[in-house]
Amino acid sequence: MVSRVIPVDPFDLVLFGATGDLARRKILPALFHRYQVGQIPPSARIICSARGDTVASEFRKQALKTLKEFAPEAASDETALLEFVELLDYVGVDATGDTGWSKLAGMVRPDVTRAFYLSVAPPLFGPLAKRLKDRGLALSDSRIVVEKPFGRDLESARALNEELRACFQEHQIYRIDHYLGKETVQNLMALRFANSLWEPLWNSTHIDHVQITVAETVGIKGREDYYDHAGAMRDMVQNHLVQLLCLTAMEPPSRFSPNAVRDEKVKVIEALDPVPPEDIARGQYREDAGGDSYRDHAGNPTSQTESFIAMKVRVSNWRWAGTPFYLRTGKRLRARESEIVVAFRDPPHTIFPSAGPLRGNVLVIRLQPDEGITLRTTIKDPGPGGLRLTEVSLDMSFAEALGADMRAQDAYERLVMDVIRGDQTLFMRGDEVEAAWAWADQIIENWEGRRDTPALYDPGSSGPEEALMLMHRDGRRWRQIGD
Ligand code: NAP
Repeated sequence: MVSRVIPVDPFDLVLFGATGDLARRKILPALFHRYQVGQIPPSARIICSARGDTVASEFRKQALKTLKEFAPEAASDETALLEFVELLDYVGVDATGDTGWSKLAGMVRPDVTRAFYLSVAPPLFGPLAKRLKDRGLALSDSRIVVEKPFGRDLESARALNEELRACFQEHQIYRIDHYLGKETVQNLMALRFANSLWEPLWNSTHIDHVQITVAETVGIKGREDYYDHAGAMRDMVQNHLVQLLCLTAMEPPSRFSPNAVRDEKVKVIEALDPVPPEDIARGQYREDAGGDSYRDHAGNPTSQTESFIAMKVRVSNWRWAGTPFYLRTGKRLRARESEIVVAFRDPPHTIFPSAGPLRGNVLVIRLQPDEGITLRTTIKDPGPGGLRLTEVSLDMSFAEALGADMRAQDAYERLVMDVIRGDQTLFMRGDEVEAAWAWADQIIENWEGRRDTPALYDPGSSGPEEALMLMHRDGRRWRQIGD
């Protein structure tokens, strides 16, 4: 199967933080891939920026190296690579000073789509937005893209929203949660709203519970300062896991438009109950074979920050009352895996008493690795000699189903092109972020007030015992990480 590529209109994309880690590893490779498949027209310009006063030709040389390192397969097409770097320009700009702004103003064109990507630390979002407005660079239809983290609590998120809204209108602001750009996450919406099979079953009458797991094998090295001040709740749950929960739980929007989708997501967040302490398991990884623990990595021997969290979340509305959502995420776990597990209720009656109790169907939506969908189904065990039952998986790997030519697209490819197209559906709206923080804040304040200590867990495990107990006491089990 060949994916259909619709070229975008000519644009000027100003990439602030172009020498940084995210720009080099994700954004520039994503733009190159979209150029290579013909989505970015040759008249597009990508104006890269950081504080250094490098000349454009030098920056292009660096970009060639970067793309060979982070998009090696695509970069083997030397012609496309050389063409692409010709789209790149460079200007040295100081986000908090006056340097470079006049030059930048002279570089952007008046008659093409204009987007500003702020791939810089969040304290620079406000100063950059203000200068873009004050210098007349922000037009009424220009777009501004901001990265995560969007605040560390409700108060700071509100302040950030105010800073941005003083210079740009909400329809111009693109708050990235890169999980929303993942193919399977969008497929979750297609699965739910483009098939008639699921919707009648998608409620607490038929679904026993939902599990959402985002497990990582890496620790916090390289991000230790940020992470030790954030923890798993702020870093992962408030944004990525809440977004996955919203897409799983939301009502069908009336249409696939930015505000219709986001209105429904906000309603889910507003329906989340506060989570009591007994429904939360926090953990911190203990020392590994090399003797390094979370606290060693954080450089903070008394850190109480969680590198793991599991929680039972209730969505208080008509559809989901009685169906808990169990969320789990952590560092240094046994496998790298993100998935949504929808566990249907057990059949109410069996006509096969000798086969033992029947188990409910399980739908697994895998986000990574190997994006795909699996449905656990009960069938007859093949062969003569009575009717025995067995469970099999109906398995669809997107890579297999869609053909080897379908290269797995990085989330940033989709998201950057959506910015240029002016489609905000897969970006978080300001009120949505604030609602998620309002819910997260009370949970964090509660454990901080109790001086809660995270339980230790072994690196390479599935997290602390307490997380297993969270499910066991409800007569349920987590799906094994890495299965
Ligand atoms: P980084 O590696 O520290 O890069 C920061 C960039 O900002 C550099 O290009 C730096 O260039 C530029 N910069 C710093 N101070 C500046 C100033 N005063 N004026 C203009 N430019 C300035 O950071 P990063 O890891 O790429 O992260 C960028 C953003 O993405 C952050 O908001 C981060 O939270 C978010 N994010 C990153 C990742 C990731 O995997 N890296 C993942 C998710 C979200 P000079 O120092 O040369 O000026």
